[in-house]
Amino acid sequence: MENFKNLINGKWTGAVSGNTLKSVNPANSDEIVGTVPASGREDVDNAVDAARRAFQKWRLTPAPKRGEILFKAAELLHKNKEELGRLVTREMGKVLPEGLGDVQEAIDMAYYMAGEGRRLSGETVFSELPDKDCKSMRVPLGVFALITPWNFPTAIPAWKIFPSIISGNTVVFKPSSYTPVSAARLVEIIVDAGVPEGVINLVHGAGEDIGEYLSTHPGIDGVSFTGSTAVGTKLARICGELDKEISCEMGGKNPIIVMDDARLDLAVEGAIWGGFGTTGQRCTAASRVIVHKKIYDEFLERFTAAAKRLRLGDGLKPSTDVGPVINEPQMNKVLGYIEIGKKEGARLILGGKRKTDGDLQKGYFIEPTIFSDVTPGMRIAKEEIFGPVVAVIRAEDLSDAIDIANAVEYGLSSSIYTQDVNKSAVAERDLEAGLVYINAPTIGAEIQLPFGGTKKSGLGRKEAGGRGGALDMFTKWKVIYRDFSGRLQKAQIDKD
Ligand code: NAD
Repeated sequence: MENFKNLINGKWTGAVSGNTLKSVNPANSDEIVGTVPASGREDVDNAVDAARRAFQKWRLTPAPKRGEILFKAAELLHKNKEELGRLVTREMGKVLPEGLGDVQEAIDMAYYMAGEGRRLSGETVFSELPDKDCKSMRVPLGVFALITPWNFPTAIPAWKIFPSIISGNTVVFKPSSYTPVSAARLVEIIVDAGVPEGVINLVHGAGEDIGEYLSTHPGIDGVSFTGSTAVGTKLARICGELDKEISCEMGGKNPIIVMDDARLDLAVEGAIWGGFGTTGQRCTAASRVIVHKKIYDEFLERFTAAAKRLRLGDGLKPSTDVGPVINEPQMNKVLGYIEIGKKEGARLILGGKRKTDGDLQKGYFIEPTIFSDVTPGMRIAKEEIFGPVVAVIRAEDLSDAIDIANAVEYGLSSSIYTQDVNKSAVAERDLEAGLVYINAPTIGAEIQLPFGGTKKSGLGRKEAGGRGGALDMFTKWKVIYRDFSGRLQKAQIDKD
């Protein structure tokens, strides 16, 4: 077990209070992965102050130079991928190939944003007046608070850190207190790449203790939050009143639609990966499968048979398909939803219980769980459970399936399995979601396109790359008019 620190102004330091938090392996609650400072307000003040001081120099560092540092960070992350991936698995519980995938996403984002150092462009256009030119350019906002959840311990932080600093901002990063060690190692590696002191500051601690204090701090210009809808919408309201920029990526209740002409083998495989991958703990997890009535029984039979074969266990073991859920409260929440589903009259056809036999004794393991005969009004069909629980719902036809898919407050990801191009086109157009997949499950976003949801899944700007992606979150536009005529010229008024 190692003791990790906050990073403030380039120095690794404990909390002013001296208090610490433990990070626990969800596959074995006896194993402490590491300790981190339990920070308080004074630590946040110090971190924000350091970021403010570093901003003036960093914003004037040429963007291609900033990009070179990010490129080096990408190379170092790549070199340390195996170690970091194993750490993600030990701390968060996802199986090792997914732990490595988490780190790969961070690497991809580092390379991508390194390139943005030479691409951060605006427009140059002709003025309507002679001897005058005009251009627009992206400029940083200042100091960002970055607040992240536990389910992607390196990828989501990287999605925020790299675009924010390539844009010339400095940051105060508060990771989830459930996966702080992975976040600390990520920051150590980024610092080793040569990021100057004060550009990245890391404060550990519980959300209720310092998350809101940090987000509403007068020294913070913008907030980028990923987490639950309850916390995100609350922060957005408070930040709105304070005139602070904020973007929130939040929960989901993502549907896979399976039409009667779908390739069932593909659909079953996709629903297994979408529903039980990462133990259902992805914002984009497919927690609802909406199946055309003609193939409902056959789909259910094949889906259940495939889910039965999934092996629960420690994510570091090659034989494991599904790891634990993150902690005891989350386990109890998921088990509580299973009870709700039963009481609502849904049919529990697989799983439904905690597993404690053999090696599973000290972890938070829940069997892959399937409910059939779920109707759209049930709570298990509407609320985010964030665990290995899938609700299977029957639909009359395409239009009914899309209505069911849209009948929730969330709108993050969605999917349809069909061989009919016309049906896929209708779904593409009518599904209310930030992401639509055709013949693929609801997970698998790539970093070179914007990422984010609609409705209660996303507020403000989107994440990741491409037009409308994270650079819009982390920069604002500035327009410059330069008059070299040597006389006063008046736009709109100096007309013949
Ligand atoms: P959470 O909202 O409990 O916590 C997220 C972060 O906010 C953590 O760092 C936490 O410490 C902090 N926090 C908690 N209370 C706070 C407060 N009052 N003020 C400020 N910060 C506070 O979410 P979680 O349990 O860590 O993550 C799971 C949730 O995240 C799920 O709802 C999931 O769908 C969502 N998520 C969304 C995306 C996306 O991109 N849309 C990605 C991953 C996870």
